[in-house]
Amino acid sequence: MNGTSSPASLSDAMTDPFGRTISYLRVSVTDRCDLRCFYCMSEDMTFLPKDDLLTLEELDRLCSAFIAKGVKKLRLTGGEPLVRRNVMSLVRSLSRHLDSGALRELTLTTNGSQLARFASELRDCGVRRINVSLDTLDPAKFKAITRWGDLDKVLAGIEAARSAGLAVKINAVALKNLNEEEIPALMQWAHGKGMALTLIEVMPMGDIGEGRIDQYVPLSLLRARLAQQFTLTDLAETTGGPARYVRVEETGGRLGFITPLSHNFCESCNRVRLTCTGMLYMCLGQDDSADLRAPLRASADDAVIDAAIDEAIQRKPKGHDFIIDRRHKKPAVARTMSLTGG
Ligand code: SAM
Repeated sequence: MNGTSSPASLSDAMTDPFGRTISYLRVSVTDRCDLRCFYCMSEDMTFLPKDDLLTLEELDRLCSAFIAKGVKKLRLTGGEPLVRRNVMSLVRSLSRHLDSGALRELTLTTNGSQLARFASELRDCGVRRINVSLDTLDPAKFKAITRWGDLDKVLAGIEAARSAGLAVKINAVALKNLNEEEIPALMQWAHGKGMALTLIEVMPMGDIGEGRIDQYVPLSLLRARLAQQFTLTDLAETTGGPARYVRVEETGGRLGFITPLSHNFCESCNRVRLTCTGMLYMCLGQDDSADLRAPLRASADDAVIDAAIDEAIQRKPKGHDFIIDRRHKKPAVARTMSLTGG
């Protein structure tokens, strides 16, 4: 894994037909996970055969090709990225692009269950900020949501990350009748530790055998409820992502809202998603994809990969159209979030 990438020149940069420059790559390094969050996966998930997976060296080569084409931010996700065997060798190898200045940020999204083991090494590899998904602080609810999870392990993982000097942002999916009442407490807990909290609307991805309408709560409703209790000041800043942030005056902390359903944010989308089998999805909420595994394996020359990436970027759609209501019984896309990488 020692390919190098020189910074992209303007002519190499990836710009889609709507004038959006692609500078953010999210990579699902495995579709496997040690949890079974009910809104994400069915309990008896069938995972990809191991033989279909790209090797870590192949993932590195693809990531490096994207970095050479102007990707500045790279997020490892999954499935659970920290359950992929030897994943730290990929993180370490990718960190050379931080050292060279080609990559601005290397980060990951994790459920936190394995963080206690990996936090220091992540920091050592140049990771500075991570997102940890945590929907509740109630052990019984945590078990109900994740089916298999142990809240204490996640909390210990978060503490390990903080002690290692990583900035942690908590992501929570808002779930009707499950954690919606707990959001103020979750926020106060996160802000009390200096962590931002981002709330996410549940998205209709994957046929997971549960009615989405029973899970979905619009964040506009939760925001209105929070505003009765707290002073929320809109922040102009964006992180380049879909979240809109407010400062909560009483806690001094930041609260984000990701609203793919109640307010679509595609006009500023700067990202594409790579799966562990080498499929590139140009939009989280659309089915179109490009196979990068074939060009990757066809030639040792990265020009073949570059051409496949260029062709794919020209197919990036304008946006997604997620809908959850009683008339839409089918998911917007058949694949689960764990495959594309949430
Ligand atoms: N295992 C890692 C984690 O838990 O953060 C990374 C992958 S997980 C698929 C990424 C995020 O997607 C998590 O925050 C999870 O809660 C969220 N997620 C999964 N399915 C979702 C859905 N249908 N709608 C909204 N968010 C979802």
